Amino acid sequence: EWFSFTQLCHEVIDQLRDFAEGHIIMDDRAKAEVEGFPDEIRSILTNLLTNALKYGGGKDVTLKIHTSMKGLKVSVIDQGDGIPAEHINRITERFYRVDESRESEIGGSGLGLAIVKHALEHHDATLQIDSVVGEGSTFSFVIPTYRVR
Ligand code: ATP
Ligand code: MG
Repeated sequence: EWFSFTQLCHEVIDQLRDFAEGHIIMDDRAKAEVEGFPDEIRSILTNLLTNALKYGGGKDVTLKIHTSMKGLKVSVIDQGDGIPAEHINRITERFYRVDESRESEIGGSGLGLAIVKHALEHHDATLQIDSVVGEGSTFSFVIPTYRVR
């Protein structure tokens, strides 16, 4: 199913407004449509943006969308505490949380990224995680089938 990715992004951002101190800034150059499962893409964006707001230290979050040779590249960028390298390979496991004492205050069950990973596989996409402790994290993926209109 083809649908407007740009419109879906705006809907998700609207729903997350007032969720936390930080704001979500959308950085896109063109309106895009993608082929896939809209409910799953919605879940991916909601989970990644909610994480960025929860763990982003109250700072602004950027949702960046740009075209690349391989497809539509989507990045969720925060300016939070980052994730220590030894945890990065494990945070997409079910129930895995980096710091249980810190995270239990923030709330959540450790399932969000496992859902994201699964939904991305359904779109022939993989989650890339880049993080620098003390500076922030970027979660990105590429949707192979898209068109600009
Ligand atoms: P849930 O999403 O089920 O409500 P959760 O947010 O704890 O709970 P995940 O979304 O799977 O679960 O994330 C797993 C863990 O990865 C988090 O508990 C946190 O430790 C770490 N994490 C995820 N996103 C970020 C981020 N943007 N910055 C820092 N740490 C993060
Ligand atoms: Mg989460």
